[in-house]
Amino acid sequence: MTTEDFRSAARATADLVSDYLAELPARPVWQPMGDTARKTLLDAPLPAEGRPLGELLAAIERDVLPHPMGNGSPRFFGWVNSAPAPAGVLATLAAAAMNPSSAGGDHADIHLERAVVRWIAELVDFPHPPGGGLLTSGTSMATIVCLAAARNRAARRAGHDVREEGLAGLPPLIGYVTGETHSCVRKAAELLGLGSRHLRTVATGPDGRFDPVELGAAVERDRAAGLLPFLVVASAGTVGTGAVDEFGPIADLCEEQGLWLHVDGAYGAFGRLDPAIAHRYAGLERADSLALDPHKWLGVPVDCGCALVRDTDELRATFSLVPSYLRDEAAGALGWFSEYGTEQTRPFRALKVWATIAHRGRTGLARDIAHCTALARRLGELVEADDELELLAEVQTSIVAFRHRTTGLDGTELNALNRDLPVAVQRRGRVFVTGARFGGQEMLRACLLNAATTEEDLHLLLAEVKAAARTLLP
Ligand SMILES: *Cc1c(COP(=O)(O)O)cnc(C)c1O
Repeated sequence: MTTEDFRSAARATADLVSDYLAELPARPVWQPMGDTARKTLLDAPLPAEGRPLGELLAAIERDVLPHPMGNGSPRFFGWVNSAPAPAGVLATLAAAAMNPSSAGGDHADIHLERAVVRWIAELVDFPHPPGGGLLTSGTSMATIVCLAAARNRAARRAGHDVREEGLAGLPPLIGYVTGETHSCVRKAAELLGLGSRHLRTVATGPDGRFDPVELGAAVERDRAAGLLPFLVVASAGTVGTGAVDEFGPIADLCEEQGLWLHVDGAYGAFGRLDPAIAHRYAGLERADSLALDPHKWLGVPVDCGCALVRDTDELRATFSLVPSYLRDEAAGALGWFSEYGTEQTRPFRALKVWATIAHRGRTGLARDIAHCTALARRLGELVEADDELELLAEVQTSIVAFRHRTTGLDGTELNALNRDLPVAVQRRGRVFVTGARFGGQEMLRACLLNAATTEEDLHLLLAEVKAAARTLLP
């Protein structure tokens, strides 16, 4: 391939991507793929011979771009999946062109990752000692990283070296979560050999937040039984209702009891940038670790999570292994990123983070986030003002939990209706919303992450929910 071939294909790619992004808002948010379109991808034969770049671009335009998940649209309210930040989209290409392994060394990607991890910590007001964090594939991985450090510290304090001995011989280590805690925490506990049975689900108030009194009592009970309480996982924005735990009393308890406080801020931590809700996050900075996702509210193109820790040495002591072939003076005093997490070869995630944050600046990001939380509160008001709908939780961040409440249906029928509603709404193609269970009830939950979403889109969302409900009712 010549330089000119590449250049002309790159220019065509830029046009294709620009057109795609420009046309998104006018297109259906999501549509089921037709059989033929699906088969074209599923049954694609392994090519024996290569094809020119121009043909590949044409195939992307014809077979791939017309079938998005929908999260690029301002009328996508599903899960916690954002539209990509344009600066991040462009940076992805440059990062791939360099294609380093961001494991360690003296090259641009390494130093940029140190800088953007510090920026992320600054954005959410989390303390950041040099080396106190790294980018990961997402919060699921960041959680494994943080909980591994928590586990090893607890075991060491009990006179046990987990890296050497494994968990055998150690009394069960007990962690505390709520019914609203994200499933990635249980997955991490299972993978780390802690056993999901040793995660205690502590009662919450009606707002879905930890009850600190119940938490304290649970810790006392486990201590009295000879077990080793070691971890509390609080949420800076639950995935169901966007609830933010009250960190102050939880941090007090953790300090008193020597427990590691981990905060799951995957979705919600960046809400701290909005002065209207910043007070909800008081005490977040007292956590031992924080997992959060630039690939959610900041719109950094997937994948990009981040693990932040208060004590750098705990993290390094958990993961550091430097075989002789990796010895490298250029890595400097902090060593390799691969000494702080699970990955050895690591992608250049930092450039898309750098571009996304640098393009908007702290002020622009704060404005985007404040726009989302204001719209979410507005949506809450619209739901409350509507007889056919019911708001199920206070709007704390930018997730609105609500359900349809047709009169004449009993609890079971209402649950069935609300369980079927999201897909019925999605299939209509005008808006996209997903569902969940909260407090034993099936509900819809609309998540606002896109600064291009307007109040008009909120009216459309509710109109679509009600229209879809009419098609489901007998
Ligand atoms: C998305 C999410 C996770 C999982 O993060 P991934 O980036 O998908 O691995 C964990 N917790 C919460 C609250 C989330 O919203």
